[in-house]
Amino acid sequence: MFTTRLTVEIPGIAYEKIEPFMAAVEEQGLEHGGTGPKVRPVVCCKGSTCQYGLIDTYSISERIHERFYKGYHSVILPHKFKIAVGGCPNNCVKPTLNDVGVMGWKGGCKVFLGGRWGKKYSIGQALPRIYDTGDELMELIEKVILFYKENGKPGERFALTIDRMGFDNVAAALEGNDLLTRKEEILGK
Ligand code: SF4
Repeated sequence: MFTTRLTVEIPGIAYEKIEPFMAAVEEQGLEHGGTGPKVRPVVCCKGSTCQYGLIDTYSISERIHERFYKGYHSVILPHKFKIAVGGCPNNCVKPTLNDVGVMGWKGGCKVFLGGRWGKKYSIGQALPRIYDTGDELMELIEKVILFYKENGKPGERFALTIDRMGFDNVAAALEGNDLLTRKEEILGK
């Protein structure tokens, strides 16, 4: 079955067949392991081709996938961490309900922090600036992940980390390059 993050979930595999199944999947050039307390598969809307799209959601989400889903796959975070990229404020893919939500906006994108959806939900809060969708956005997302890695408590969703620390304090910590320059130190913790 396809999940809401557009990955495939296959229930009912016998325990002793899990390893051979994973090997068979790899042989087909597919990947496994999209769950756990880590960066989850990124989703986007069809903003690249949608008449309302303001940003190239496909290429942005592919870049996020490579750099943060694959690049941070071995990084254990306090809890799951979801990223969504939407092409405009119509919010079809619900960036405001992801830990980091990118939303196409006139002149670039807005970035929402701390959304989640499920048994408990929180609406993400927007950072005050408009961001360029290239390197500036990638560096911001990396700073958010590093901040969460360093400050989140085990089992705490990012929404709760923000509640505990205060949104303005979180936003202030994302200014400048301190988190990026301390990346090795933070990931080594
Ligand atoms: S969020 Fe905007 S760009 Fe994305 S599919 Fe909906 S209307 Fe189109």
